[in-house]
Amino acid sequence: MRYQVGDGDLTRAELTQLVTRNPDRQLRRQAWEARAQMSGNGERIRQAMKLRNQLALAYTDELFSTFMLRKKGMEAEKLFEWFEDIRDATEPEYQALLQQLRHDLHVDTVEPWDLEFYFSRSTKDFEQMQFVTEEGWPKAKQLLGSLGYNLDTLPVHMEVADLSFAGAAYPILYGKEVKILANRYSGIFFFDRLFHATGHALHYAMMNESSFLLSNNYAEPFDEGLAQVIVLQLYRPEIGVKLFTLTREETRVVADTYRLKAIFDLRSTMADSLFEFEAYADPEQDLTTLYNAIHSKYLGVDMHGVAVWAYNPMYGSDPIYLQSYIVGDMVAHQIAYSVDQRFGSCWGEQAGTYLQEHFYSRGAETTLDGIMRQGTGEPLSVRYLTEFLRGSRNTRPPWCGSPKS
Ligand SMILES: [Zn+2]
Repeated sequence: MRYQVGDGDLTRAELTQLVTRNPDRQLRRQAWEARAQMSGNGERIRQAMKLRNQLALAYTDELFSTFMLRKKGMEAEKLFEWFEDIRDATEPEYQALLQQLRHDLHVDTVEPWDLEFYFSRSTKDFEQMQFVTEEGWPKAKQLLGSLGYNLDTLPVHMEVADLSFAGAAYPILYGKEVKILANRYSGIFFFDRLFHATGHALHYAMMNESSFLLSNNYAEPFDEGLAQVIVLQLYRPEIGVKLFTLTREETRVVADTYRLKAIFDLRSTMADSLFEFEAYADPEQDLTTLYNAIHSKYLGVDMHGVAVWAYNPMYGSDPIYLQSYIVGDMVAHQIAYSVDQRFGSCWGEQAGTYLQEHFYSRGAETTLDGIMRQGTGEPLSVRYLTEFLRGSRNTRPPWCGSPKS
């Protein structure tokens, strides 16, 4: 798939680059609207949704969406409660963010093509110099090396390519062969996605269950959480200094921007996920209107009736997966908090051993709540994520030293 913007014939990564980085607002608008060039796919996805519902009804009395969510170890009611908790907890910060954005970009109305661009502005002075795509894999090796993990001896292989999705890790054979595909993005976003895939790869390489079924049936949000544990390291001040030779001030900018962008990203993903549940409940409805209404509510921006929903590749290839990103972030923040408490905020080999023993080696033998209880001392909670988003924790650089009280 190539996207037409003006005379340009762009890959997904190039289109992302335009929407998120180009200072020309009119061009950003064109690039954002070009996402609707995927809308031909929408009809095929609608057909797939109907087929999936039919298939589910052949074996259960539920919609495909409800059935799949339960199979992944979650109940809809609890999930939507967490979504509301996250939205409520971040409402003042999100409104302040929109206000700040209007002020800084000198615009009366925040548009969908302004949001991601806004975040890229704050790091533009140093980002392309310090976060170089070619250094991705060596940096990943260095980061994991500090935890005592050796990516040269772990069975993980990485390739960068032009992809129609953000990147992925694949367990070819648990514990024996793992492949990573990274999309050719640039800057911090490239590292974010690469470290995410590296976290998955660690999980697949370290999985130590007694059978293939126990390895392969891990709770999906748990796996997403283990991917995000490595991503969270990227935004830590001491990692910014050590791995990317940032100044302290730059590490502060990177951490603050990440927190604010996370508020936006999570709201956007929750809206994507809620849209999917609503779409399965009635696939015949006008999906563009539905998508845009939910996004307007969660993001406070008008989507102008543009049919951008089919741009999200997950609706076709990974149905009822999006909620696992939200719950995965809850998992990651709870694990990170717990490891900080035990080993201090500068993780070394002891933290690495703990992470491997309690998390990265675990599959489906224990439930997600069970693993969290054993590894962090309490069942899965939304608290550590919302505290992070509100900035009530980790806003000051957690420099290496003794464990926080
Ligand atoms: Zn993932």
